[in-house]
Amino acid sequence: MTEAEITVYGAPSCPACRNSKMFLGEHQIPYRWVNIDDDAEAERFVMEKNGGRRIIPTIVFGDGSFLVQPAVAELAAKLGLKTEASRSQYDLIVVGGGPAGLTAALYTAREGIDTLVIERAAFGGQAAGTERLDNMPGFPDGVTGSEFSQRLRRQAERFGVELLQVHEVTGISRNADLHAVKTENGKQYTARSILIATGSHYKRLGVPGETDYLGAGVHFCATCDGPLYKGKRVAVIGGGNSATEESLFLAKFADHVTILVRGEEFRATRLIQDEVFKHPKIEIRFQTQVKAFLGSNSKLTHLKILDARTGREENLEVDGVFVFIGLIPNTRFLEGRGVLLDRWGFILTGYDLPEQGRHITGYKMRAPYMLETSLPGVFAAGDVRMGSTKQVVSAAGEGAAAALAIREYLKRL
Ligand code: NDP
Repeated sequence: MTEAEITVYGAPSCPACRNSKMFLGEHQIPYRWVNIDDDAEAERFVMEKNGGRRIIPTIVFGDGSFLVQPAVAELAAKLGLKTEASRSQYDLIVVGGGPAGLTAALYTAREGIDTLVIERAAFGGQAAGTERLDNMPGFPDGVTGSEFSQRLRRQAERFGVELLQVHEVTGISRNADLHAVKTENGKQYTARSILIATGSHYKRLGVPGETDYLGAGVHFCATCDGPLYKGKRVAVIGGGNSATEESLFLAKFADHVTILVRGEEFRATRLIQDEVFKHPKIEIRFQTQVKAFLGSNSKLTHLKILDARTGREENLEVDGVFVFIGLIPNTRFLEGRGVLLDRWGFILTGYDLPEQGRHITGYKMRAPYMLETSLPGVFAAGDVRMGSTKQVVSAAGEGAAAALAIREYLKRL
């Protein structure tokens, strides 16, 4: 669909509007957002469509049809997204369609290994939401995250990978020599091996007001929501590579960017730090903690911040804030499933698996492969793995390495 084909009519204070926007954003489907609070004509249009009632979101499609407060499955069906795999059994099921998962899948499918990739949101993972990947080998001028993701997807499809989108995996289990993967819609698929490449997501601060203003001033994706802040004042929370890189991106739109760093210094790469320090629109406040997100009329207006050096609290006026304070692995679906995780929830693989007695539990006749988990036949690659470098290039590299190990595993099965 092209840019003009989907229009979402809603208001910042409406959680269902936020969910629909998030869904479209995650699936990289372009849409036009109309805030009916600020547009009387649009409000009249919504009421006309809904028999005089102001029901939002009202989503209008290019063919003139429309959906009112649609459930995710309804929206997915309307957009023609494939929601069921063609078979029930595969050689390999890859959970997660980011750089690690898609690279592994294109390697295995190219070798004739039947491969299904199950992705809960958009293909490309976190990389898809990155404005520009500048350190991708072979792309001397950089490449946008969305273009890179689309290229990966096309390449996987060219080698015959089956892709299943909009389905969250809720658990895995073992059934004799087969592994089973369950999805949220109650479907079960089996495979001789599994690769977990579910990546991670941005951590939340967990202070008052953060969830109240989600999508109405509080954001976690600069590429998605940065352009909303043209000529405005924004704050970025965090001091790592994400916070600094995204601040540089936001400074293209916003008039002023304040980076609030909890520690005494950045954790980001030197080169990016230098760019941030000399940027005329960026102000940096070290040793500053955010205590609350404050607003009025369902819209964020201030942050309550604490200067740890002086102990002084103040209100910082902002139109929007972007939170980049680290990552949480997407491994909830593995809890209690026999896959060993570290204390933060990242997956242990290969040499990191603890030896219990002579053998690692579950491995009687052989040692695990480098990217194999504590469950034989279940592999992990990319950001979800303990010790991974959280780089797109290494995630793709781990995907390739996992694919080769899986090929060996399947040969010996
Ligand atoms: P990082 O873990 O690198 O940094 C997190 C930042 O958030 C730190 O400054 C940390 O402060 C701060 N922080 C954590 N918790 C809180 C809190 N509760 N309140 C306030 N501040 C907090 O996370 P990133 O998301 O930046 O990066 C994740 C990984 O991805 C890293 O390995 C990074 O190198 C990589 N990455 C690489 C990129 C590239 O190569 N182009 C781009 C983006 C990310 P403190 O230091 O005080 O703990």
